[in-house]
Amino acid sequence: MDEVLIVGGGIGGLATALAVLRAGKRPVVLERVSEQAVVGSGLSLWPNAIRALDALGVGAEVRARAVTDASGGIRDSAGRLLLGVDAAALQERFGEPIVVHRAELMAILRGALPDGVLRTGIRVTAADESGRVVTTAGERDAELVVGADGIRSVVRRAVAGEVEPRYAGYTAWRTVVAPPEPVTEFGESWGRGQRFGFAPLAGGRVYCFATANAPAGAPDGGLAELGERFAGWHAPIPMLLAAADPAAVLRHDIYDLPALPRFTAGRIALIGDAAHAMTPDLGQGACQALEDAVTLGAILAGDGDLRRYDAARRPRTQRIVARARRMGRAGQLSARPLVALRNAAMRRTPASAQLGAMASMLDWTPEESATIAL
Ligand SMILES: Cc1cc2nc3c(=O)[nH]c(=O)nc-3n(C[C@H](O)[C@H](O)[C@H](O)COP(=O)(O)OP(=O)(O)OC[C@H]3O[C@@H](n4cnc5c(N)ncnc54)[C@H](O)[C@@H]3O)c2cc1C
Repeated sequence: MDEVLIVGGGIGGLATALAVLRAGKRPVVLERVSEQAVVGSGLSLWPNAIRALDALGVGAEVRARAVTDASGGIRDSAGRLLLGVDAAALQERFGEPIVVHRAELMAILRGALPDGVLRTGIRVTAADESGRVVTTAGERDAELVVGADGIRSVVRRAVAGEVEPRYAGYTAWRTVVAPPEPVTEFGESWGRGQRFGFAPLAGGRVYCFATANAPAGAPDGGLAELGERFAGWHAPIPMLLAAADPAAVLRHDIYDLPALPRFTAGRIALIGDAAHAMTPDLGQGACQALEDAVTLGAILAGDGDLRRYDAARRPRTQRIVARARRMGRAGQLSARPLVALRNAAMRRTPASAQLGAMASMLDWTPEESATIAL
């Protein structure tokens, strides 16, 4: 019964398994997909996430695969700077943000787990507060069940009932390209109802992402649609799109979760997107899942009182979900006068104010999680 059963082997579930091991407990991860293909693209990891990865013992390995010294900011579609990021000041104040390939991060997390912890090809169909889990391979009882099964979580039903994810009003494309010329800057460019972003990855590759307002489930025009939408945008965007492989472009409609009344019930705790899926506008979804994992581990190493987990994680992550949604709305504005006002306001924002606004997100340390008063 001392088993901690983790449902879902994404970034959150794998990180939780590492945290559980560090807490001296026995993790088992059940993942429905049998063999995970190397999918996904880039992922930004902010200093709060790097601290979490350090606490899990894999920070150095992740850093070794990352590009850290790029600088950039938010531009308009013609390339005029709207909001510069003072990379040196950011690094000095909070530590280095990095961009990695998602598949490489997953490989590092998987590689750090002992054999037998991750069991693939097993789907969980139900869980209840007593710690009982029904799977396609039979039933199991656990001391703790961790719902790390993403935005459409099955485990969440036992904690919060049926919760419908909310469509954010836009869709997103992602890909990784190997451009003919090096790209050393990162950046996001905001137009009217659509954005394009890019960030260098190790090995000369570049992570690219794009968004556009669209109804949920609208047909995907793939790379050809991206070429049309972003024709005439500033360099290096046309070069990046020309270098992209149409078969390697991922597209997802963007959803987040409304605020749950609780993250725990009986022997269940929710982490990552199952608890607080957010729009990607702050690049914090996976970062928060890593914080969740470390916090849960610290609590399991202590008195195991899950109320501490809820108290530490729910207010913080729900604030970030709301903030990401606001940022997304601003980024996706399409009416010309509103876009002009937005751009003017961004141009007026001093870099110091911007860093100050990021502090509550990036200041997190693993130590905070060990000292949560109820
Ligand atoms: C376009 C886009 C860009 C993003 N960019 C960033 C970024 O730059 N930085 C950042 O920090 N975050 C980013 N995010 C968010 C980030 O991807 C997620 O927050 C993160 O992957 C959540 O991890 P997770 O482990 O909670 O869930 P998931 O990654 O969804 O993993 C859930 C796992 O559970 C498995 N599963 C589901 N149901 C079951 C079941 N019933 N039984 C067994 N297994 C099950 C799934 O197969 C999956 O492997 C982005 C998201 C999007 C959409």
